Amino acid sequence: MKMNEYDAIIAGGGPAGSTAGYLLSRAGRKTVIIDKRIFPRKKLCAGLITYKTIRLIERVFGETPDSLKQRGIINFGSDKFEVFYRQKSLALNHSVYPFYFIDRYLYDDFLLKKAEEAGADVITGEKVVSCDTSLCEVTTSSGKRLKGKFIIGADGINSVVRRHFPKERFNENLWTEELGIAREMLIERGAVKFDVTHPMIFFGFINYGYAWIFPNREKLVIGICGVRRKMKKEIAGSFNEFLSAIGLHELKNKRLEGYTLPMGNFIRHPVCGNVALVGDAAGFADPIFGEGIFYAQRSAELASEAIDIFLRNKKRFDDLYSEMLQKHIMTELVSAKRHRSFFYNPLSCYYLGAFFRNFGKESAETIHGIRSHMGLKKQRDLNF
Ligand SMILES: Cc1cc2nc3c(=O)[nH]c(=O)nc-3n(C[C@H](O)[C@H](O)[C@H](O)COP(=O)(O)OP(=O)(O)OC[C@H]3O[C@@H](n4cnc5c(N)ncnc54)[C@H](O)[C@@H]3O)c2cc1C
Repeated sequence: MKMNEYDAIIAGGGPAGSTAGYLLSRAGRKTVIIDKRIFPRKKLCAGLITYKTIRLIERVFGETPDSLKQRGIINFGSDKFEVFYRQKSLALNHSVYPFYFIDRYLYDDFLLKKAEEAGADVITGEKVVSCDTSLCEVTTSSGKRLKGKFIIGADGINSVVRRHFPKERFNENLWTEELGIAREMLIERGAVKFDVTHPMIFFGFINYGYAWIFPNREKLVIGICGVRRKMKKEIAGSFNEFLSAIGLHELKNKRLEGYTLPMGNFIRHPVCGNVALVGDAAGFADPIFGEGIFYAQRSAELASEAIDIFLRNKKRFDDLYSEMLQKHIMTELVSAKRHRSFFYNPLSCYYLGAFFRNFGKESAETIHGIRSHMGLKKQRDLNF
């Protein structure tokens, strides 16, 4: 293989890119990860991870909640969650498995190092600026041209790799329709007058979305997100209203950037020849809550497996990856999207309380990946 030729070129070194880089390198494949940022780097994220993510981290990286706590990556855990309609608490529920909170600055850096230790070449501070899907080549901001047998687009919500997909493979309008938008800030624990010991979810402040207060060891993450197309007013106004309601009037009108995230705009066949999209680049996040870390890492695991199978058996990669996605990810995303209006309907104040009081345990198990979004049915193997 020539110097700039790889089995797999991975654009983006977030959780998706590093997971793919780690798995492919461990399988002996010549792999390069290119990220435009220098690591460690900040990533706006509330940092909540669920049981299905813990299982994936154990399976892929051999790490446990304890080992991640020792490294300071997990900085809080709680086995409770509370649901509000505006300021009114509707239900305080227990969850069999804890919700953990991670520091993305540390987590993403840790995963990228794991990929590098497994043998991946890592290029940081350099952007992928173009991607030729038929030649399987990428060009970087410094003019490097790299050729791969495969390209994985793990370059996040504004993916450059995705923009180079042929028009018939990717419908820009559909993508924009279900794009979510978010605001978030980190504040000192003492800034609010109540003790935050568990994640708090608030409906009713934004149309087709929710607001949250998530605990970290020393800080609180406060945020709001919703499907942009369905918003009745600007997200800034909804966030201000939420801040006032929780007693943070002085933070109103603080200038914050808006961030986009997938909230139902997943691409069903995010593959073009030997170029595949994973994670946010493919719109893989839970359409109800926007949980994306798990889907980023799981889709990367599937893409790596499909590449490995192809390189051993020459089975068509695009069919293989699409089939795997359909089996392991797509059915849950489709089902969650169907149920979304149940939570986000403006009339939800009349039934959400009863739902979470009666099905709190089942809801938590669905978020953790033990039950399916399809009818809240418990499954021994949810394919996660
Ligand atoms: C406000 C907010 C809160 C969230 N909270 C949660 C949460 O609590 N739990 C949860 O599970 N999910 C949450 N998410 C979603 C989660 O952050 C994403 O789903 C997850 O980060 C996706 O991982 P990824 O690896 O696909 O993409 P990213 O983490 O975005 O990584 C993409 C990487 O690609 C790099 N990159 C981008 N463009 C290029 C380029 N052209 N060339 C080279 N490199 C490039 C970037 O620098 C980045 O490092 C939240 C999102 C937002 C916006």
